[in-house]
Amino acid sequence: VDAKTKFCLHSGLNTIGGNIAEIRYKGDRVLFDFGRAYNPADTLLTNAQGREGTKVNDMLRLGMIPAVDGLYDNSWPGVTAVFISHLHLDHMGAIDVIHPDVPVYMSRPGLELYNELQALGEGPFRQNVLAFDYEVPVHIGEISVTGYEIDHDVLGASAILVETPDMKIAHSGDIRMRGQRPELNHKWINTMHNLNLDYLLMEGTSFWPVRDADSSVDNKFVQHKEGDVPSVIAEMLQRSGVCFFNFYHRNIERMANLLAAANMAGRKLVFEPDTARLAAKFLPPTPGVQYYVLGESVTVEDINSSPQSYFVQNTLQNIFSLIDYNAADSGYIHTNGVPLGPFDPAFGSMVSFLQQLGIEFYSVPSAGHCDKDEILGIIDGIKPKVLVPWHSTSPDTMVPLDENQQMLMPEKGRWY
Ligand SMILES: [Zn+2]
Ligand SMILES: [Zn+2]
Repeated sequence: VDAKTKFCLHSGLNTIGGNIAEIRYKGDRVLFDFGRAYNPADTLLTNAQGREGTKVNDMLRLGMIPAVDGLYDNSWPGVTAVFISHLHLDHMGAIDVIHPDVPVYMSRPGLELYNELQALGEGPFRQNVLAFDYEVPVHIGEISVTGYEIDHDVLGASAILVETPDMKIAHSGDIRMRGQRPELNHKWINTMHNLNLDYLLMEGTSFWPVRDADSSVDNKFVQHKEGDVPSVIAEMLQRSGVCFFNFYHRNIERMANLLAAANMAGRKLVFEPDTARLAAKFLPPTPGVQYYVLGESVTVEDINSSPQSYFVQNTLQNIFSLIDYNAADSGYIHTNGVPLGPFDPAFGSMVSFLQQLGIEFYSVPSAGHCDKDEILGIIDGIKPKVLVPWHSTSPDTMVPLDENQQMLMPEKGRWY
């Protein structure tokens, strides 16, 4: 493509998350997504003493953020803006190190959630976060940026379109087809198809190196549909002891589905206070269905006196409180909570802790991502001039259905 527009992928080419792209037209530029790929070394940096003043340099040195000209000290002479597709840390976890005069945009529902999370003390913290409305372009110099609502397992998820006078680039964000609102995706696919995109940056979470003799890896995305979560969990709640759940509280739909599961099983759902605050703000009220708040409307003593009547939230930081419960015939349902999976050393610790207490562990995952065939279907539906796979540990295994589909496997940090 012979164009004045230049773009560069700074990171996220062969990792799940940490995707950062920069698009320049003349002196102006936009970046999209500013998160961090999962890195076990993060705990060290979070706990580092006396290094607040050197955070940007520390993170650059550790390869946790890319060297982007003038972004951290605001020395870029033109206009800069950063757009966030959704509120998962691998897409927004580093926005606090961007210079505060550089605006960061997210969808309007995303910003409402971001503000609530800040109030609960959940970073990254920053000023100058602005909202975009879906399908309403934001003008950054001569560049126009439009967010589209798509379905993913977090409130306010978006795909992002960047248009300059001579180029159209779309970023899929993270996307799932087996959620409860696939029609959003189909609308987006249709709109992108009609635009005749130059580049599509497509997430490929489900594309990973195939190892023979390890079929469990390929089964990773044989997971529950979001809409099936209530009945699957309700089934597990048919026992005589207390049941616990651990989910990611940015996933407001899951919150509703957990409440539905408790209701189906005739149990009372109990949220921890922080999550109850999000529920009060974002959960659409269902007539006749209510939830309780731990330490406020329900106590541990209440639960111990009638354990089979409750379904109680337990996040990792509160796991020691499980010692206080009557554990007879109890169960713990992990449904995409933190730690997210066995790749995190904390996951094994959590499982053995529960085992020690005699609490039976269950996993009810519902993916926020498409499987391979669904991704290939999206690419074929959009038919960009050039496909760029990213957000994948194995982007080279994304082989389009259409053998004439052009692809670019970009080099990290190179300008195109
Ligand atoms: Zn992601
Ligand atoms: Zn995500």
